Amino acid sequence: MRNTHATQLIFELSTAGRSGVNLPACDVPEQPREQWIPAELLNAESPELPEVTEPEVIRHFTNLSTLNMSVDTHYYPLGSCTMKYNPKRNERIAGWDGFAQLHPYQSEDSIQGMLQLLFELQQMLGEISGLPAVSLQPAAGAHGELAALMVASAYFKELGETRTKVLAPDSAHGTNPASARMAGFDFVTIRSQADGRVDLDHLRENLGDDTAVFMITNPSTLGLFDDQVQQIADLVHEQGGLIYLDGANMNAILGIARPGDFGADMMHFNPHKTFSGPHGGGGPGAGPICVTDTLRPFLPNPTVSYCQDSQAYYLDTGDDKSIGRVRSFFGNVGVLVRAYCYIRTHGPDGLKRVSEMAVLNANYLLSQVKEFLDVPHGDRCMHEFVASAEPIKEKTGLKQPAMDIAKRLLDYGFHPPTVYFPLTVHEGLMMEPTETESKQTLDAFAEVLKTIVNEPAETLQSAPHSTSIRRPDEVQAARQPIVKWTEATD
Ligand SMILES: *Cc1c(COP(=O)(O)O)cnc(C)c1O
Repeated sequence: MRNTHATQLIFELSTAGRSGVNLPACDVPEQPREQWIPAELLNAESPELPEVTEPEVIRHFTNLSTLNMSVDTHYYPLGSCTMKYNPKRNERIAGWDGFAQLHPYQSEDSIQGMLQLLFELQQMLGEISGLPAVSLQPAAGAHGELAALMVASAYFKELGETRTKVLAPDSAHGTNPASARMAGFDFVTIRSQADGRVDLDHLRENLGDDTAVFMITNPSTLGLFDDQVQQIADLVHEQGGLIYLDGANMNAILGIARPGDFGADMMHFNPHKTFSGPHGGGGPGAGPICVTDTLRPFLPNPTVSYCQDSQAYYLDTGDDKSIGRVRSFFGNVGVLVRAYCYIRTHGPDGLKRVSEMAVLNANYLLSQVKEFLDVPHGDRCMHEFVASAEPIKEKTGLKQPAMDIAKRLLDYGFHPPTVYFPLTVHEGLMMEPTETESKQTLDAFAEVLKTIVNEPAETLQSAPHSTSIRRPDEVQAARQPIVKWTEATD
């Protein structure tokens, strides 16, 4: 698999005099640049650009694109991220000129189609969530959390209340505490019980008239549906607080349970997880939020409305209580177009079936994995489950068996599961197969995992053996990326 050609820089492929284009001969008299461009704006020397032919360019970038794993090239059971296959048809439609070539400053009457699509998407997300007031503006799930917490803040301010605390269970995604702090709240972690559900006693101890919001991910990142959620909502509401549902795991309950019906006041969707938006590489994603009618006036503006009289869609700046814009123009519209296509393609019954199949696939994989790995909460799961490689420590002496297994999976051509998250499971491997995988793929993955668990410690410790980059320091790699491959970075 090592592909050294692709790890050369395109500058290293350069040969003086080569060109990727054939321009016709100049048929007008040549004139010196200095005649048209002021001397101080001209470079003394030509820029050093790679001189390469078209096939060299194509091979270079095609090879580069295969250095990483992707949903289109590999099985990708990355828990909590819902790496389902994204139908190419949605990509094609989002690329149509009528969508992709619009300018956000066009007049409303010239973008009626786009406004209709966004209006209908608002309605569909309102229906799926059971929370009728929708803003499509936020640009990611985490951004949706922040926007909704700002909505909560504005709501409490309107009531004349000072509420300083946001609470969430210890299995929460790191974005929950981060959003709470960015929105100006103090953050309190609520313990989970041994069975993975929220510890109600610890919640009661921390609830008070200073509680603004309880954030809950349900089903949780452990792949468990907390059946106490309505009771939790009652407890929080009795204290005047609001429930925020982190909707990253909606792939498990589409058309089956609605957050608005089980007590949520606000939530976000991750269309790049649930509704087939391309996912990873830093975005763009989207994080539409849905809230109750009570909170509607505080939503970011504008939203999209329909005027019966003029029979036209328009950008509605709504109430002066709005928290204002959280994103330029209408948000990341390309992702929203794909979400619209996905939802309309499946329809209500199809979406329900998506979730049923996602849960079935996860339970099928779970039934195999628990034969050779520990699965702490593993009788049944929703769309994902968290296995633990803790027992392997003792058997092999490995210090970080979850990491070693993850790295070794790369040699077998599988993207690893999410590791070391949530923090409540030691040596956690969080697997989310999604509904788009076949039984054969799940069987093959389980088989490889079983093989790896029984391989010698040295093999695991030194894995991966077949990739161009072996084990980079992940923090340094993110902060100070060295994009040029050398033996030293191996
Ligand atoms: C992915 C995820 C988020 C954050 O969503 P982004 O779109 O990546 O910002 C929040 N909570 C949970 C549980 C997630 O899985």
